Parts: sequence; C-alpha cells; structure tokens
Amino acid sequence: MKHPQVLALTALHLGLAALLAVAASEAGSLGSPTLAVVPFAAAIALVGSLHMNVELGRHAVSVTLVEAVVVVMLLFMSPAGVLAAAVFGEVLACVWQRQPLAKVAFNAGSAALAAIAGAVVFQLLWTGGRANGAAWAAALVAASVYATTTHGCTSAVLAVFETARFTRIFAASLVPVALASLISATIGLAAAVLYEVTPGAVLLVAPLVVLMAAETRRLAAQRAEQLRFERLYAASSRTGGLTSLREVMATLAEESRSLVTGAAAVCCTMDADGTWWGVVRSDDGVSDAPVEAVEASLALLAGATDAEVASDRVPGSVRALSPATESLVLARSDETAAAPVLLAVLRQLSGDDHTQRRSDVLAAFVGHAALTVANARLYADVEDALAHQVDLNRQKDDFVSAVSHELRTPLAAMMGSVLTLRRLDDRLKTDQRIKLLDVSCRQAKRLQRLIEELLTLASVENRDAVPADQAVAVAELVEEITDDLRTQRGADELPPIQFVDTGLGTVWSSEQRLRQVVSNLIENACKYAPGGAIEVRLEPGSDDTVRLSVSDNGPGIAAADRERVFERFVQLDQSSTRAQGGLGLGLYLCREVAAQLGGSLTLSEAPGGGSRFTLTLPATRRPDPSSHADAGGAQDLARASTSGEAA
Ligand code: ADP
Repeated sequence: MKHPQVLALTALHLGLAALLAVAASEAGSLGSPTLAVVPFAAAIALVGSLHMNVELGRHAVSVTLVEAVVVVMLLFMSPAGVLAAAVFGEVLACVWQRQPLAKVAFNAGSAALAAIAGAVVFQLLWTGGRANGAAWAAALVAASVYATTTHGCTSAVLAVFETARFTRIFAASLVPVALASLISATIGLAAAVLYEVTPGAVLLVAPLVVLMAAETRRLAAQRAEQLRFERLYAASSRTGGLTSLREVMATLAEESRSLVTGAAAVCCTMDADGTWWGVVRSDDGVSDAPVEAVEASLALLAGATDAEVASDRVPGSVRALSPATESLVLARSDETAAAPVLLAVLRQLSGDDHTQRRSDVLAAFVGHAALTVANARLYADVEDALAHQVDLNRQKDDFVSAVSHELRTPLAAMMGSVLTLRRLDDRLKTDQRIKLLDVSCRQAKRLQRLIEELLTLASVENRDAVPADQAVAVAELVEEITDDLRTQRGADELPPIQFVDTGLGTVWSSEQRLRQVVSNLIENACKYAPGGAIEVRLEPGSDDTVRLSVSDNGPGIAAADRERVFERFVQLDQSSTRAQGGLGLGLYLCREVAAQLGGSLTLSEAPGGGSRFTLTLPATRRPDPSSHADAGGAQDLARASTSGEAA
C-alpha cells in the first residue's frame, strides 16, 4: 500500500480546505455549526454506506446519494455546519464499513475539501432565501462542485496507485459520476422544497430515490461491463507483441489484475515436463510465485475453468501474496487451448454482485493468455534452433580450419624431413639421419592420432555400440602406451609415469577403445602438465565398478572449466594448445567412448592442484550387443573370471 502518498494527499486536501475556510471566513461567509450537524452526519453516513461501485482501473469508485444530503445541508445550515457534518458523516461511514485508517483519513480530508468548496461556491452564488430559483440553482451548482471535488480527490489517489495520468482517470468516469451526482442533488432539492411546503411531503421523493438507486446501479454495472471489455481488448493488444516468456507472464498477470480490479495476480503455465510455475504481479513488482500457491490455485479450480472464491476459502499460501484479500478470481485455459495457463487474481474489494461477470472476463482473457504464452514458447524455440544452427555453423568452420591446420602441420614436417634426407643423404651423419627419421615418425604418429580421432568421432556420433567383452590387463596396456610415447617424444621428454594397481589386474572392456582413452589422458598429462610425475591408478569403485584414474601435477583445470573441457573443440589455453596441436576433440571423444563402454569419465582436482581424470567402468563383462548370448550366464562367467584374475 502506498500509504505515505495517500496521507500526503489527505494532508493536501485538508490544507486546501483550511485555506478556503480562512478565505471564506475573512469574507464573513462562515457561520457557526448548529445542532443539525448530528442528524445530517448520520444521513451522510447512511447514504455513504448504501454505495454503488463504479469500477475504475484496479479500484472501485463509490457513487452515493450524498449530494442529496449536501443540497439540503447547504440550504438549511451554515457553511461550518456543512463542513462538520460532511467530515463527521464520512468518518462514521468509514468506521461503520471497517475501512483502514488511511482510507478514513483520506475520505475525511476529501470530504472537508469538497464541503468547503461547495459551501464557498454556494455562498458566492446564493442571494438569500430558500424558496427561489437562484437559491436552488446555487445549491445544485454547489453540490456539483462537491461531487467533482471528491471525484478529483479519488482520481488523484488512484493516479498514485496506478501510476497513471490523473486526467485520464478523472475523465474516465466523470460522466457517470456527474450524472449520478446531478440526479442525487435534484432529489435533495426536491426534498428540500417539499419540506418547505410541509415536512411530511418529503416522503413523496421516496419512490424517486428507490428508482434512482436502482437505475444508477444498473447504469454503473453496464458501464463497468463496457469498461471491462474495453480493457479486455486493450489488454489483449498490449500482450500480443511480447516475446520473452517471463515478460509475457508478468504482463498477463498485470493485465489480469487490472481487468478484475485485483491487488495482486498470478499467471501460471505448465512446462513441457508437466511442472506448473508462475509469476506474481503486485504493487511490490514482479516475483516468482511460490510452488504451494500455484498448486493451491490449481486445486481450487478442481475441474472447472473459472470461479470466484470468497476469502474464507482462499488457501493461506495464496492469501500470503496479498494479505487483505477479500476474494480470489480464477480462470484456466481448457484442454483445446494453445498452452495451459492459469490466472488467479486476488481482490481486496469487498464482494458485490459482479462476481459472475468478473469470472467471465477473466475466462475470456485466459484464452488470449494461452495464445500469447504459446506464441512466446514458439518464439523461444525458434530462437534456440537459430542459435543452435549458428553454433553448428561456427563449430563446422572451426573444425574445418583446425583439421586443415592439423593435417598440414605434421605433413609439412614429415615432407621436410624426408626431402632433407633425400637431398643430403650421403652428407648426413648417422645421428642427424636418425633425428630426421624420428621427426617423421613423430609427425606420422600425430597424423595417425588425428585420423583415429576423426574415425572415432564418426563412430560415436553414429552411436555405434561397443562390446566390453575383453579382459584387458591394465599394467601391460599402460606399459605399451608409455613405450609408444617414449618413442614418439624421446625418453628425456617424457615425465615419469607410475602405475598403481590395488589388486584388480584386469578390466572388462574393449582393448582398442580403452587404449584410446587411457593413451589420450596420459598424452594430455604429458602435454599440459609436463613438469611432474603422472600416476595411473586402478582400483575398485562403488556399486560393482572399477576406477582407472590418470593424475598429474600440472597447473590443473579451474572448477568452472571442468565440464567445458569435455565439449567438442574446447581448448582452454589457446597459446599452449596451438603449440601442442590438437583439435579439442580428445576429451570429448574420451567421454563418449567411456559412455560407449558403459561407464563415465569425470574430472576432479588431484592432490597438489593437478588434474585427475577418472574413468569408471562396470566391473563385470558386458556382452557384445549384437550377439544373442545369454547375458546372465555371460555376467556370471565374467564375475568369476574378474575375481579369479584379481585374486
Ligand atoms: P586437445 O588436447 O586436442 O586440445 P582435449 O579435448 O584433449 O583437446 O583437451 C581439451 C583441453 O583441456 C586442452 O586444450 C587443455 O587446455 C585442457 N587439458 C586437457 N588435459 C589437461 C591436463 N591434464 N591438464 C591441464 N589441462 C588439460
């Protein structure tokens, strides 16, 4: 609630009223209050509580017969009496209706300002006597001034609440308010004139009062209906062009709040995985709707598509969104709608007879809301697809340029060595010749690795299944890989590689694939952590698995990059990786191959800050997916064999 602003406006009204009063008393036009203040105040309180609501924006403006009482007061009482009765009557009406303190203060302030303005105008126009046309006209004009002033005060406070322009709000319901006040003032005038003839004649206006009350109610309802549909169309046009889903949901909640004069509104929708979520719009802004509130609102509808439930049936989780809730209006899109949407609006205004109309308006709007949400979803899907396409294109370009660089570099080095050998063959010493041949071998290996990577890429992208049906002796495998690396890089270049086996000896896998993963991990450790020792460790894992880890003492990989390095074409330090060659495919392929082998590959920090890559594989044999061998029998065989070898 924007109470400070309301209190400031109230203070302004009272200040203006005081100024007017001072000016009027200077001119000698204010007399003293009379005893009639009490019955007139009671009359104002009575007509004030028999109000009709004209809905305006998210709020309702009360139309009453107060001008009838004002006209009589102006003709029969001193201006000070009019002021006292108007203020006292408003306060009584508010207290009777248990209005909050801010509203009591505001109504008293605007009544004071209106009474003073009306009284001053009446005093200026009045020429004396009660039974002449000039006095009647002065009373009618003064009552209109009274009504316009209170309407102006209400519009000012609504402008603050809705952060809208004062003139727009003032003009929006000026016509019904002016009409109602004119009719009401005329009734008051008729009563006053009849009273002059004989007091009992006042009763003659009773049928007119009843008729007028009924007709104003009907007019107000009609006008409210018209306004709601105008707002429905305006709301639909405002949300039509939005694209971001959250922005759409927030705007739909805001529009729903305006449509049914709510204090807060929730717009919910269901994700593809069947979870409902929502966004709340209130005077405090936009926030995520608590899950319990979304579920409770869904439960309230229980099969129906729209409803308005009274405050005692509103669940606590929903009420918490707007504590002074008097009722909750709900509408849900039906099965045929483009997207599932639920709108729930919490109203702080006390109940009236427009319940069904409000539900109807929200139900009409929820159809549009479903379309808007579906539209935003489609837009997001198209954007994602586009971004994915752009990313694929970029990846393809990167890939082509990296592959051509990676193919050219070793080829150029190999050709250089071979051509030198041919040209200078007899002039070269043996060690020079060996050096050139070593270079060729190393570059040929690099080329071979590249071709293997490309072939594996094709295989993993085809999702080819790999049988894990060979008992691979890990110590031998590591030994062979180390020997290969020693030949490729030279014994001096290779960091010490230590193999630790906690007693397992073999793992069930595809030898070729396992070699590919382990050699890639050891090669990476040699490339990116050349300084310290490398440890390859084989140990049993949890849940019938074995773990094969490769740890190094290098710079390690920052926690934020530990998942990223497994993506295709990701190379962290461009300067070092360019120097080392590679396509940024190695770890991606290792992880894919690990999955093909029925296991996983993860990265953590090794003690001392280096990297530790852990390959977790099933401890038991997985049969060849293409064969129809009895899986259970094969597993038993595997288990027996594994434990035999481990022991
Ligand atoms: P490539 O070696 O071809 O660049 P990889 O997929 O094998 O591609 O590795 C991706 C990136 O991960 C490397 O470019 C490197 O930056 C980083 N990386 C891989 N292994 C290690 C390691 N043991 N220590 C530090 N960084 C590493």
